[in-house]
Amino acid sequence: MSILDIRVLGDPILRTVTKPVEAVTDEMRTLIGDMFETMYLAGGIGLAAPQVGREERIAVAHVDEHKFALVNPEVIERSGNDRSEEGCLSIPDIYGDVDRALTVTVRALDENGQSRDITASGLLARCMLHEIDHLDGKLFIDYLSTLKRRSVMSKWKKIQPDYPGFIRKVTAESRDETRPSGSRKTEGAEHHDTEM
Ligand code: ZN
Repeated sequence: MSILDIRVLGDPILRTVTKPVEAVTDEMRTLIGDMFETMYLAGGIGLAAPQVGREERIAVAHVDEHKFALVNPEVIERSGNDRSEEGCLSIPDIYGDVDRALTVTVRALDENGQSRDITASGLLARCMLHEIDHLDGKLFIDYLSTLKRRSVMSKWKKIQPDYPGFIRKVTAESRDETRPSGSRKTEGAEHHDTEM
């Protein structure tokens, strides 16, 4: 297993539309394993291939007891609406409320190449939609109001120099430093495991 570097906002790969995977090979399974390891170390609940500099249509998610590799995922049903806070491992320290479907069904291949339909509500639904957006070159900040987006971008301008070359190195130390108890304090607000 290897820990991968996470690409942050400004790296063009985050705006790239990914390519469908033709076969779930051992190489893909290694990538999936590395993505899970990287996600856990970074303290996230989801991670998509472009966030680690790859163009395959692959994401991983682990919300509560639900752990999935999503290969070539597509949303086949969505219903309801839910507005809640999101963060992104590729946009550290930035959070915003985003409207998403409350319940979705996603069809995807698993790490063995088997097709499965996953129906979920709430945070897992939100996480899968956030990751599928990544695979289409979309980011959660795209959904913010013009005003909120402007304030987020001016904050990001001050944060971005901490990530030279748009690279976020993920290490055990970096996690201990920034997430002492599985949550992070930013300007007085607590953000519980909403980064993906
Ligand atoms: Zn994200």
